[in-house]
Amino acid sequence: MTTSGDTVGSGQTTGRRPRVVIVGSGFGALFAAQRLRKAPVDITVVAKTTHHLFQPLLYQVATGILSPGEIAPATREILRRQENTRVVLGEVTDIDLAARTVTSTVLGRTTVHPYDELIVAAGAGQSYFGNDHFAEFAPGMKSIDDALELRGRIFGAFELAELATDPAEIDRLLTFVVVGAGPTGVEMAGQIAELAHRTLRRDFTRIDTTSARVILLDAASQVLPPFGSLGKKAHKKLNEIGIDVQLGAMVTDVDVDGIVVKDGDGQERRIHAATKIWAAGVQASPLGKLLGEQSGAEVDRAGRIAVRQDLTLPGHPEVHVVGDMISLDKLPGVAQVAIQGGRFAADAIMARIEGRPTAPEFHYHDKGSMATISRFSAVATIGKLRMSGFLAWMMWLVVHLAYIVGFRSRITTVLHWTVSFLGRGRSERVATQQQVYGRLALEELGPNFEVSKTGGTSADSVPVDVSGRQSA
Ligand SMILES: Cc1cc2nc3c(=O)[nH]c(=O)nc-3n(C[C@H](O)[C@H](O)[C@H](O)COP(=O)(O)OP(=O)(O)OC[C@H]3O[C@@H](n4cnc5c(N)ncnc54)[C@H](O)[C@@H]3O)c2cc1C
Repeated sequence: MTTSGDTVGSGQTTGRRPRVVIVGSGFGALFAAQRLRKAPVDITVVAKTTHHLFQPLLYQVATGILSPGEIAPATREILRRQENTRVVLGEVTDIDLAARTVTSTVLGRTTVHPYDELIVAAGAGQSYFGNDHFAEFAPGMKSIDDALELRGRIFGAFELAELATDPAEIDRLLTFVVVGAGPTGVEMAGQIAELAHRTLRRDFTRIDTTSARVILLDAASQVLPPFGSLGKKAHKKLNEIGIDVQLGAMVTDVDVDGIVVKDGDGQERRIHAATKIWAAGVQASPLGKLLGEQSGAEVDRAGRIAVRQDLTLPGHPEVHVVGDMISLDKLPGVAQVAIQGGRFAADAIMARIEGRPTAPEFHYHDKGSMATISRFSAVATIGKLRMSGFLAWMMWLVVHLAYIVGFRSRITTVLHWTVSFLGRGRSERVATQQQVYGRLALEELGPNFEVSKTGGTSADSVPVDVSGRQSA
């Protein structure tokens, strides 16, 4: 076991700089770290991936538009000029609120990070609502691994259809089911439809890719529920581009052959489909439960922890929790909640260091929501303004470009978007066998890899070095 830094009390009493530990490298964590760039503190950013992931564009990696590097720059590179910050790879397996330490593990190497101030921004993973076995046949979309696996499955289905001779099997291979009609499901279904009907149209000899069926299904009665009346417009547009939207349809089983759904009338039916994609439901990081047990803060069914109005834990003003992990005033699980929460926590830390009072309440400024349906078509809400069509799509383009980290990534993203949206190409179609089967093969190694499908570590499932190595 290694220990970073000493373990004496707070910086204020010992004369050394306060130690700030930030868990995660997503939106909440990165924006908190950047806000503290000039603060007289020593920051340790601990995350289980080496990159900062721009999740809103994962579906474009899955459908061959963007490369992983464009949406997942190295955290170390982003923060390299920030002299008060150290970036450390490791999955946080324990947080001890009494001892003020965070324990992280990578390949059997355990590190304990003492803190004076802690920001936890570990986000959320996929939820299969208690049916984790669905994950084998219907991967979710939470990580680069997920997106690459889906890329392999989507493009692979067309390849296998080209080889198949049985018409029923060709139909099964050319049927794509996306579960969840929220923004992620809508964007994913839209892009698969565009692939089948436009991009791949002339690439195959025996199959007609335009005959592919893309089904978007949800137990809810509306597409894009948070968008209110715009949901109807999105539904109409989805139908226009050939997507079969099935609402009030609850998934009861998923297997290699397809998916079983129960309709509103209680009848069950099977959809034969080779490719199933899960875009429904999230479960907050298990670190929320861990923090709840120690602080007495409530944790809801989705694993989100009830923080105080200032985003700290009861009895622990030095512990800030932000982003997808929190339950506060029904705030949505979106990037801006995490970004603004991360900055708010950083400001509270700076205020305390400077002996100023901290702001008592976090106020979320809703900058609006948007979702693309297909090229040139999106829906957007900004305050009372409701937009759809090309204008909303242009806005979506500009906003997403602004939030992609790094000048180089912005340039190459614009190039890739030009190729895909103005032309009909996809520059990133590479998919390897390892990408398709890697996750499943790892899970065969034992329960410790169960975590990979929910994106977190459960209390009774501590990662070990399966290779037998004791260090990286
Ligand atoms: C496919 C998809 C599309 C989305 N589209 C949109 C959109 O269009 N607009 C929008 O506003 N929001 C969108 N969201 C939601 C948005 O991405 C999240 O709300 C946001 O990422 C939350 O930020 P966060 O910092 O809380 O968590 P995340 O950004 O998820 O970051 C969590 C971080 O914690 C790390 N981590 C997790 N567990 C541990 C651990 N035990 N130890 C160490 N590190 C750990 C992770 O590796 C990651 O770096 C989308 C999400 C997904 C999945």
